[in-house]
Amino acid sequence: MTSTARAVETFDSLNPATDEVVGTYPVHTDQDVTEAVERARAAAAWWNSLGFAGRADRLRQWKSVVARRMESLCQVVSEETGKPFGDAQLEIVLAIEHIAWAARNARKVLGPQRRSPGLLLSNQAATVEYHPLGVVGVIGPWNYPVFTPLGSVSYALAAGNAVVFKPSEYTPGVGKWLVDAFAEVVPEYPVLQLITGFGATGAALTRADIDKIAFTGSAATGKKIMATAAERLTPVIIEAGGKDPLLVDSDADLDAAAEAAVWGAFSNAGQTCVGVERVYVHQQVYDTFVSKVVQRAKQVSPGSDYGPMTMPAQLDVVRRHIADALAKGGRALVGGKDAVGDRYVQPTVLVDVPEDSQAVREETFGPTITIAKVADMDEAIEKANDSSYGLGSTVFSKRRGMELARRLRTGQTAINAPLSFAGIASLPFGGIGDSGFGRIHGPEGLREFARPKAIARQRFTTPLVLTTFARTARTEALVSKLIKRLHGRP
Ligand code: NAD
Repeated sequence: MTSTARAVETFDSLNPATDEVVGTYPVHTDQDVTEAVERARAAAAWWNSLGFAGRADRLRQWKSVVARRMESLCQVVSEETGKPFGDAQLEIVLAIEHIAWAARNARKVLGPQRRSPGLLLSNQAATVEYHPLGVVGVIGPWNYPVFTPLGSVSYALAAGNAVVFKPSEYTPGVGKWLVDAFAEVVPEYPVLQLITGFGATGAALTRADIDKIAFTGSAATGKKIMATAAERLTPVIIEAGGKDPLLVDSDADLDAAAEAAVWGAFSNAGQTCVGVERVYVHQQVYDTFVSKVVQRAKQVSPGSDYGPMTMPAQLDVVRRHIADALAKGGRALVGGKDAVGDRYVQPTVLVDVPEDSQAVREETFGPTITIAKVADMDEAIEKANDSSYGLGSTVFSKRRGMELARRLRTGQTAINAPLSFAGIASLPFGGIGDSGFGRIHGPEGLREFARPKAIARQRFTTPLVLTTFARTARTEALVSKLIKRLHGRP
């Protein structure tokens, strides 16, 4: 990492299915982080000088390396998170789509755009263009170690910034793979750098001389990051957790809705920020829906359909939520009390769980789901929105999909399919409340990593010059008349 000799503390990355050591990485210090940010500063100027076309070309080459060597990246993802190969491939495929979109659209979204100067200043040409911020720090989680950080990294790079990336301490190998692949196609400067370590290394990056920090992880850490970033008034994006609801209307396709609930709740062992954790079902279809979910959930098997819990400490949270739900009168139709093992958690379907239970209010981040009966969709909306989180949501309804989606207090909603918004690169992604703020993906995601630069260029002089001490009473009278005619009519 640094050219100067220094005793380096290290940490091991473990395979959560076997505890086998799959890599050893340095714990980067404050000094290491400061030096990385200094190098990034020089790299940012060079990267910006390539222009949109030059950067798009390099990003396309990077995308192509990731696509060609996808199996090797799947292997690292699978080793460090425990997720099945196919799930690793899915997140990589989506991440590739995002790199491609950001590269293709950066000029259109961020390049110079004409604005109307208005009648009074019609002698001016008004332009806005988006300049890169400089150096962006990206701090990532472990649950989707490719897709999630690249949602910030790709857009920040396409906007012309250099990036210093700290992956989760559970997935440093994935971070290294991505940064090494980038260095192959951008060998000139360290435009994308890796730093590794625990929370303290992330805190050092947050405190460093960077222009923005893009954080994805838990709401609790997000709050710490924001407090630290406040010391330098560094702007932040917080992509935090969720407690995503799925709504089933009386006219919904119940097979599709049950399939979506089961996939949304159990895939990746429920360790998905926009995973389905709560379901609200119209009373007319409740019994049929529940039996369809139960039938499908019984066929889902940990170890093949999904992996172990990546973070051992999460086992206690899942156990606590299930126990609390059962103690408060909930019933487990699948899984339940003994679902939580040493590494794996059995799929768990809970019903009759009071709304004030931990399993309904807190992010469980495990393969569990609560299903509640509602009298109508108004009650479903009210209960779904009664949450400190507001990340994603899903609606199954044939006639009222758009209406219900608009009423859900979440950053994004999928109608009649699970999690579809995450794969559509042109759509912004982000949260409300404890789920954070700011947006990645789409045009909004590009603008998040750029600052608008407004330019007004005078094209010709007019008789109506107001910004001079030589202004005459006649000009003032003329302007007064003009404004009354333009804006004064009742
Ligand atoms: P986490 O908050 O424990 O850690 C996230 C990252 O922050 C890690 O890299 C960690 O080293 C770093 N970190 C920890 N303390 C820090 C500090 N004080 N200063 C700076 N950095 C620090 O989260 P996690 O367990 O890795 O990830 C799971 C969480 O992420 C869940 O809540 C999940 O919902 C959320 N998540 C959100 C999204 C989204 O897009 N909104 C996507 C994926 C995951």
